[in-house]
Amino acid sequence: MGLEDIRQKVARAEAEAGRAPGSVTLIAVSKVQPLDRVEAVLEQGHRIFGENKVQEAQGKWPDFKARFDGVELHLIGPLQSNKTRVAVDLFDAIHSVDRPKLARRLADHAQELGASPDIFIQVNTGEEPQKAGILPADADDFIAECRAMDLPLRGLMCIPPVDETPSLHFALLAKIAERNGLSGLSMGMSADFEQAIALGATHVRVGSAIFGARDYG
Ligand SMILES: *Cc1c(COP(=O)(O)O)cnc(C)c1O
Repeated sequence: MGLEDIRQKVARAEAEAGRAPGSVTLIAVSKVQPLDRVEAVLEQGHRIFGENKVQEAQGKWPDFKARFDGVELHLIGPLQSNKTRVAVDLFDAIHSVDRPKLARRLADHAQELGASPDIFIQVNTGEEPQKAGILPADADDFIAECRAMDLPLRGLMCIPPVDETPSLHFALLAKIAERNGLSGLSMGMSADFEQAIALGATHVRVGSAIFGARDYG
């Protein structure tokens, strides 16, 4: 538990997988966490954070960004098409691109601004009806569509079903990425980031193992 422990575990998993030191980006998922916990992790020198709601991120990150240099913010939750402009201003990466309309709006902003957050396409590897993400069968076409829009496509993201072996989903995501020539893999959370690193994760999204349990009450 805690930032230092997780950093060490990431480094060990990189070494065990024969991956270069520092090849995995640790995203500290700060959603719902009390601000003092987030500030403590900033004080420890960590700068890469993930949030799953645009509005919640808007409420806390402008202030933290003003106080701490070099913050890099990743949107890891759903993005509504009417919030894309706010999202591109606030986030350095968006991991939840999963439909043409959303990709089109992000591409329009990129044209307008001459810059864009890094883009990850979310794949619904478990084909769960309630979950966001493009279906695996539609992924190749959607990747090509995003490329044709000139979006800075960094890789793929998945959230495995809670009741299934995550490594099967990590392997599937890695396979889709490989056949499409994509190097980024956003996969692995508190319970399974080491397995994800073994299967090629370049970005792990770790919340409760760094900050402690989230209190939704
Ligand atoms: C909350 C969240 C995480 C972090 O979950 P933990 O189990 O607390 O590590 C990772 N990815 C996404 C998309 C999330 O919403």
